[in-house]
Amino acid sequence: MKILVVGGGGREHAICWKLSQSPKVTAILCAPGNGGTALLGENIPVKDDDIPGLVALARDREVDLVVAGPELPLVLGLANALDREGIPCFGPNAYAANLEGSKAFSKTVMREAGVPTAPFRVFDEYDEAVAHVRKKGAPIVIKADGLAAGKGVVVAATVAEAVDTLTDMMVKRTFGSAGARVVVEQALKGEEASFLAFCDGKNYALLPSSQDHKAVGEGDTGPNTGGMGAYSPAPILPEEKYAETAELCIKPILEHMAAKGEPFKGVLYAGLMYTEDGPSVLEYNVRFGDPECQPLLMRLETDLLTIMFACIDGMLDKIKVRSTPQTACGVVMAAKGYPGAYPKGMEIAGIEQADALPGVKVFQAGTRLDNGKILTSGGRILCVTALGDTLADAQKRAYEAVDKIHFDNSYHRRDIADKGLKRLS
Ligand code: ATP
Repeated sequence: MKILVVGGGGREHAICWKLSQSPKVTAILCAPGNGGTALLGENIPVKDDDIPGLVALARDREVDLVVAGPELPLVLGLANALDREGIPCFGPNAYAANLEGSKAFSKTVMREAGVPTAPFRVFDEYDEAVAHVRKKGAPIVIKADGLAAGKGVVVAATVAEAVDTLTDMMVKRTFGSAGARVVVEQALKGEEASFLAFCDGKNYALLPSSQDHKAVGEGDTGPNTGGMGAYSPAPILPEEKYAETAELCIKPILEHMAAKGEPFKGVLYAGLMYTEDGPSVLEYNVRFGDPECQPLLMRLETDLLTIMFACIDGMLDKIKVRSTPQTACGVVMAAKGYPGAYPKGMEIAGIEQADALPGVKVFQAGTRLDNGKILTSGGRILCVTALGDTLADAQKRAYEAVDKIHFDNSYHRRDIADKGLKRLS
């Protein structure tokens, strides 16, 4: 089978890598791909928001399955457009993708489905939002309704900061139309974890829990990034809690969407916060997280292609989805300066040596293959991922591998998984 994977990050390299292990996969195309995916198949320079371009590519190259890595193409209707051509797509249709594409939609679905989430209100009028914020006081959370590249959420410590945020989003339109509508919600306190499930519209198969590190600096300090590392499982969400957590945050969403006639198919990602009152859903994503995907796919034992077709065909109850009981830890190597401005074009050395270590896989993100050399081309460059019998073991192996890799202006955190180790001790 010929597969087209859409996207160009570490997540997409991990998806291509896992799919390439399937005996049924004969060719992999990746659009636009990166230096890692170039080694597994063919990169094609079509962007993830070019829906007609992606559909034409899938049709012209007679692709048997399209896998959407990021959310943007799904929110823009990639699955719907492929469906019209009779091409299977792994990922939800545009309506169901609104669980991520619109925070107002997502929070309303959570409320209707009885999923625990912070109390909230939706505003289209700036003056009403400001009055509400003044009444509620701080801390308070302001969320731009639409996609804002992970920057659309502000946890405001003061009323003045909340009002400034509303002004930026609703009046100055910093995020364009994504901020015309906002969700204002109660600020919660607690540790976060990610819980992902494969869904076929009716049935679900759980992946192990995971946790990422969003902040750029050690000790979770400094500005937020796309993610500086992740590990699985997250000790705060142990295996014995998976079934009850799924009853709380996965099953009600599947039932609700099915009842609306819009069954959810693909990966449903619940971003949870463990408050004093128990878990609360902060957000849903409609795809794998990056970098959580890398440790999760390292642990996945079941053939990914089989799982994806089971999701599409509504047959997830007919297969077993298994992950190794081993732990996985992924450390992101970035360019110095990220998430601000950073240099590009540095040559990377040592990937092969790191990959040769037992239980290690180096997933590439902001890289490109140039005359046999791997050069940096983005902020997050690699996610060096390792399996281990314990979290401490996986962390040690991941850092041993990181230490084999060199490029100028390299930066990574040295404390990925420390949070989990602290909880275990
Ligand atoms: P991303 O796509 O980058 O994960 P996002 O823009 O979709 O982020 P959310 O995940 O909803 O936004 O929120 C981002 C972060 O903001 C959360 O990971 C959490 O740390 C914080 N946050 C969101 N809602 C709340 C809340 N009610 N109380 C406290 N913190 C919150």
